[in-house]
Parts: sequence; structure tokens; C-alpha cells
Amino acid sequence: MAPAMLERAVAEGAAPMLATLMQRGRFIPDCVAAFPSVTPVCAASIVTGVAQDEHLIPGMNWFHREEKRYVEYGSSLRAAQRFGIARQLTDTVYNMNRAHLSAATPTVFETLDDADVRTAGTTYLMYRGRHRHEPQRDTALTRFAARLMRHPVMGPRELFYADVFASRDTGCRSALGMPGVRDRHSGCVSAYMVEHDLFDFLLLSLPDNDWYSHKHGPEAQLRSIAQADLQLARVFNAGGGVDRFLEKHAVIVMADHSQAPVQSTISLQDELSELGVLQPDGADILGALTGSRASASARGYAREGRPRIAVCPSQRAAMVYALHPDERDAMRASVLARALQIEGVDLVAWLAYDAHDRPSEGVVSSPAHGELRFAPGGDLRDARGVSWHVDGALSVLDATVRGGNALATPSYPDALARLWSGLTCPTSGEVLLSAAPGHEFVDWGGAAHVGGGSHGSLHASDSLGALVLCGVDDWTPARASNPSSNPLPAQWAIRDVAPLVKRHFGLASG
Ligand SMILES: [Zn+2]
Repeated sequence: MAPAMLERAVAEGAAPMLATLMQRGRFIPDCVAAFPSVTPVCAASIVTGVAQDEHLIPGMNWFHREEKRYVEYGSSLRAAQRFGIARQLTDTVYNMNRAHLSAATPTVFETLDDADVRTAGTTYLMYRGRHRHEPQRDTALTRFAARLMRHPVMGPRELFYADVFASRDTGCRSALGMPGVRDRHSGCVSAYMVEHDLFDFLLLSLPDNDWYSHKHGPEAQLRSIAQADLQLARVFNAGGGVDRFLEKHAVIVMADHSQAPVQSTISLQDELSELGVLQPDGADILGALTGSRASASARGYAREGRPRIAVCPSQRAAMVYALHPDERDAMRASVLARALQIEGVDLVAWLAYDAHDRPSEGVVSSPAHGELRFAPGGDLRDARGVSWHVDGALSVLDATVRGGNALATPSYPDALARLWSGLTCPTSGEVLLSAAPGHEFVDWGGAAHVGGGSHGSLHASDSLGALVLCGVDDWTPARASNPSSNPLPAQWAIRDVAPLVKRHFGLASG
């Protein structure tokens, strides 16, 4: 949800519930997403309160080094088909929560469940909790889905996940979670839970705005925000209207990221094909290159028959993995040299290592401005009060230093912490890429959102989402750790919200 679109919807009277929450609470128009600013990474940060260097969900598409395969969470139907629908659904519905999300970072559901707070959730990528749920076997499920979704999951006390998991018979149907009807399903089950007093904490997901904005562009959010507002009204009305509801509940409204318009695409798979790209079906570039498109050196690689890199597009971000540890440094150099030549690539980032093979510093490079090297510690402080050592061209991140030590990166909010987390995340690739405004990496199904909107980059345009706090303290871990010596206003981040929720229920945090 783009903060400007929320403000316009409210100004036009199209979102009366959100208007009430903003008026009675606090509206923060610049809450920063994770990088890559895509839903799996952001959703994991929202429910755990940490970034991917801890929660370990690195992208929409990534390479699983232990299992030696791509993980695809559903960039598009065509991408899912390339990897196999069954595999994509199993990764998204089961493995993301059970295997990929770190066991060492409890979700807000798990923390609240342990304290006997009554938790509840509507369909959301992240649902991991302490309560067991068996898949539904009623007639609304197609036989196809019933075959795939056979296993129980651990979720919040009340879980309504598409039509696959439903802790009660509410009479609500989601058409298997198809876009366009998901908000209605969330509103329906949430109204039921309010009527029957079934939760203390509810994660109410309204995902249709993102889908609508991908299709019709960020400007079209006016319409989908109004639709989301109708579902909020339905939930509040089940509790006797917004006034009565707010007497009983605090409400946090948040976006996981924003969206920016897309005009053109980058096919990183094709751009890097000469390096030997692992294909979704496990075959290397050998089978994918046609004679006319393959250059002499690509045919050379093809004859060797060994894929050397995995390419993982995540909408307006991408990652590249070196497949063979012994050639990691050489492959990284080859990828960097090519990536910086690609039209539409804004930033390329990687980790430098010391003599003991420990990460020593992050490097972020742009075709136009050169290199900036950075590492935690040092004299500069970013907008969240975190200290950094920085060396090189500040213009790479459009950064300025004020008052001797205050580092500001408004074009790339929270840039260094987000890059550092992405680079040091054990499941991330060796090279991270961020697309320039207007560009998107095509996914493995060849799909992108030209003429619509997308997200994923480090840039402010897709990174800054709306946050509304109504009935909770405006406390952040960043501010709490350093309340007086930070001269800049705290930069809110989506990972601040889980600690806020825990604190609201009286649980230690931060
Ligand atoms: Zn999206």
C-alpha cells in the first residue's frame, strides 16, 4: 500500500474506517520494508520482528544450497508451472513456515501462544504458531488441492488459511484463495471471530490491494483500498461499530511494502546465460540455448555441461548464487562485471571477505557512481541510530552526512542495514541486485508487470509503506536503545511491529 494512495483514498472519502484510525491514532507514511521488498521477506520480518539475516527467508525465489534446487513461492502462475505447481504449493504452504523460516526466530503467534494469549490469523504467508490444524476435507476443496494439502500445520489458535485450514465452520468461502476474493474471505472470518469473541490478537490480512496494484498500477490502489476499507467496516460492525471496537481493541494497520510503476523488464537469466545458468527443471543452460542465440563462449560452457550460477528474480530485486564453492570469487567477479552493464540495473551489492573467509564489508556499486563500502560499527549513525563505517562514493546511495556523523539515505531508506541483512543472510545469493525505477526482473515464467506496478527494490518508491498505530504506544526498539543521542527522527521499519504487539500484551521485548 502506497502511503500517498492511502492519503488520497481518505481525502476522497473512500476509506472512512482507515480515516478514523488515522485520525484517532498516529499515521507514519514512511515505514520501511525489508530488502528485497517482496512479500515473503517482508511477511517474515513482520511476524518475527527481525530481518532475514535472522529469519532466513531471502526472496520470492531463491536457491536452496543444501537441497541444490530453486525455491519458488509463486511470483506468477507461469513461474510456478516451470518449477511444478505441486512443488511451489508445498514450498509456500508448508516448507516456508516449517523448514525455511528459522526455528530460532519465534513468530508473534508463537510468543503470544506461549503466554496463553488467544491468537488468530486469516490467510497470510506466515502463520507459524503452537496450535495444530488438520487440513479441511469438505466439498469446497477440489480434489487436486485435497491431494496436495494432506498434512497438518502448526498455526495460531484460530487459523483460516484459504479453504485449506479452518479452525471453525464459519460459512465463509475463499474460492481457494483466488485473487480478488481474498479480502472478502478475511473480512468474513474476522467478523465471525469478533461476533463470537474468539481472539485477543488477530492478524487480518488484506492482500488484494497488492494484486490489484500489480495489475492496474499503483494509482489504481484508490479502488482496492476502498474495497479493503469495506472489509474493515464489516469487522468493526461485527463488534458494534468502530467506536465500540476501538474501546476493546488496539489496531495497527500496515503495508509490507509499497509499489512503483513498471515500464520495462530485465531478463537476468538471458543476460547471464553465458555463465551457465541452472534451469528450473535442473537442466543447465545446455538445453535452453538455441544455436543461433548461443555465443561461442556459451557453447563452450554448454559443452562442459555444468551450470555455474543460479539466478533468482524477486520482482524488482534479484539474487545470483555461485553453485560451486571453489569458484565463488571468480563467479562473483564475472556476475558483477556483467550485471553493471545491464540496462535497468540500479545497484549491485556483494560481500567482501577477509583472509579467514569471514565477511569484512559490504560493497554496493552503481553503474553511474562507482562503489561504496560499508560495515557495522564506525562513527556514522543512520536514521535508526545504527553505527556504520562507510568508505567510497556516497552518491551510490544518494547519501549525505550532516552534523559530522548523521548519515541520511532518503532515496534508499534504511539502506545499509537492509543491504547488510540481505548480504549476510546465509540463504541469500552471493550478488544482490536492485532495479532502477521503472524496471522489473522477469520471473522464471517470463512474467512481469509492465503497465502495472511492482516492488522489490531498495529504492524508496517501493520500500516505504503506510503504518497506522491506533491504541498502542509509539515505541520503537531503535528509539528505546538510544532515545537521546539520535538527532534524527526514528525511521520506522516493518520489523518494529512485532515487538510493539508483544509489548502491548505485556510481554518483554526489545
Ligand atoms: Zn506484490
